[in-house]
Amino acid sequence: MTMELEGKVVLVTGGTSGIGRETALLFTKAGAKVVIAGRRELEGDETVGLIRAAGGDGLFVKTDVSKGSEVAALVQKAVEKFGCLDIAFNNAGIEGAWVPIIRQSEEDWDRTININLKGVWLCLKYEIRQMLKQGGGGAIVNMASVTGLIGSVGAGAYSASKHGVIGLTKTAALENAKSGIRVNAVCPGVIETPMGERLFGAPAIHKSVVGLHPVGRLGRPVEIAEAVVWMCSDRASFMTGQSLVLDGGFLAGPNSPI
Ligand code: NAD
Repeated sequence: MTMELEGKVVLVTGGTSGIGRETALLFTKAGAKVVIAGRRELEGDETVGLIRAAGGDGLFVKTDVSKGSEVAALVQKAVEKFGCLDIAFNNAGIEGAWVPIIRQSEEDWDRTININLKGVWLCLKYEIRQMLKQGGGGAIVNMASVTGLIGSVGAGAYSASKHGVIGLTKTAALENAKSGIRVNAVCPGVIETPMGERLFGAPAIHKSVVGLHPVGRLGRPVEIAEAVVWMCSDRASFMTGQSLVLDGGFLAGPNSPI
């Protein structure tokens, strides 16, 4: 049986941990060659080790997605190593400081927007240029959040960045539809990752955050990875410009008090 993404070249930003690492491994299992981008070398090498252990081929490129020259070099290195770029998951992001707007520093606002929103824009810019150079065709998924669709107390910059990602996703999809490049986003609820742990790990907060998810638990990274791999496959060939919510019922309505 041939694997679904056999021979495809995939780029995953923020592939050094959490959802990005899990998705890189699932792309590997689907037969793809995976380029991981992130800031931390040790964790990047670890992810490549996991990819090789799963029988795949991978490359880590140390990259800060908020810097245009580094993102341009990342795409170039991916193409130098594997010959082309077929798929990208623009996942890298930070939570920033979760404080009310009146207490948020300008520095934290800039950093959060630069990584979460400008970073996705830079990735789209250089990935799409490469895909067009190859003659078109390709699939891109951007990482948004349920917080890209609703407000969130204490998360002004984070929420604004994720709302922005959804706008960018729609625009990129429209601009490139005729070239066969599909661009979508995912909007997870709270997922068990290092970021989820940093934000909601304290026992009292954890319990109330679980309570926002009618299924009665937080999500697992693989539950996002499965959707991303599907969205990048030809099985999702008519899907573009969409934001797929994966949230255990979070946004369906208030959780039942009984
Ligand atoms: P994580 O902290 O484990 O992973 C974040 C990844 O992004 C890391 O690999 C980190 O190195 C990388 N990164 C951060 N800044 C970077 C930069 N400037 N350049 C390159 N890489 C950078 O957290 P995660 O939960 O796996 O988060 C992944 C994405 O999912 C983020 O965009 C996050 O906002 C989003 N998300 C997470 C949750 C959740 O509950 N965990 C929910 C919705 C959306």
